[in-house]
Amino acid sequence: TCPGVDRVVPILAPYKIASRQTHPEPSVIDLGGRMKVKVGGKKVCMMAGPCSVENRPMLMEVAHAVKEAGATCLRGGAFKPRTNPYEFQGLGEQALEMLAEAGEATGLPVVTEVMSIDQVPVVAKYADVLQIGTRNMHNFNLLMAVGKAAKPVLLKRGWSATLNEFLLAAEYIIQSGNPNVILCERGIRTHEDHVRNTLPLATVPAVKRESHLPIIVDPAHGTGHAYMVPSMCRAAVAAGADGLMVEVHNDPPHAMTDGAQSLTLDGFAQMMNELRAVAAAVGREM
Ligand code: PEP
Ligand code: MN
Repeated sequence: TCPGVDRVVPILAPYKIASRQTHPEPSVIDLGGRMKVKVGGKKVCMMAGPCSVENRPMLMEVAHAVKEAGATCLRGGAFKPRTNPYEFQGLGEQALEMLAEAGEATGLPVVTEVMSIDQVPVVAKYADVLQIGTRNMHNFNLLMAVGKAAKPVLLKRGWSATLNEFLLAAEYIIQSGNPNVILCERGIRTHEDHVRNTLPLATVPAVKRESHLPIIVDPAHGTGHAYMVPSMCRAAVAAGADGLMVEVHNDPPHAMTDGAQSLTLDGFAQMMNELRAVAAAVGREM
């Protein structure tokens, strides 16, 4: 015994602050904005919107439609991490302005990707949530930069990251000063070629056991096929996910990015109705 020491807690996990060992209660992250959306509580969060912001009218149409159908957060890419440098790279700050306007018009908080340290101030100026994409999960300097920002962070799993590496990436953000981290399983690279990625839903119970951070699932990037999105969303909610991210477009065949995995406006509304029943069956709300 040592004077002034009540008890000694051995820290076993390498991700010390993200671990459930140091913080047994699940974290609830406040996305801010008028709707006071929280991720990690009883309500399952639905982040929906186009892969890329293509122009103002399409963003407004999609934003109002997803809000109407029950989405709780608007997504849309302004800075796009494209494999091919000759393909559409996003509208940049113009898209951020449109996202802020759509967020204001619908009351939905807005999530959008920040690709580099120099983009952090401008993205944080317009968006409610800073998204770190799968390709940047290992970009430790960027993780530390969003760790110093005053907005919550949506951290996507690197497509070849282990669970340990994923949680240590979250640790970088929290350790830099930002405790508001939402994890996102978005699929991993495997031998499978009938899907864009393999979507491991086992990440949900694994993260729940290891960490207090909320975890959401992105079946759009996780499968690459719009027809698979509703079933994988239902499975994710049943597995205990705190939220979902999906891509929705007013004209998927003509989308500038990720049309094949984008739901139509009607498809999204129908999926939301089906999801409410699944959420209720596992004691959640949507
Ligand atoms: C996206 O959400 O549009 C995106 C690029 O996702 P990911 O980083 O998971 O590929
Ligand atoms: Mn996309």
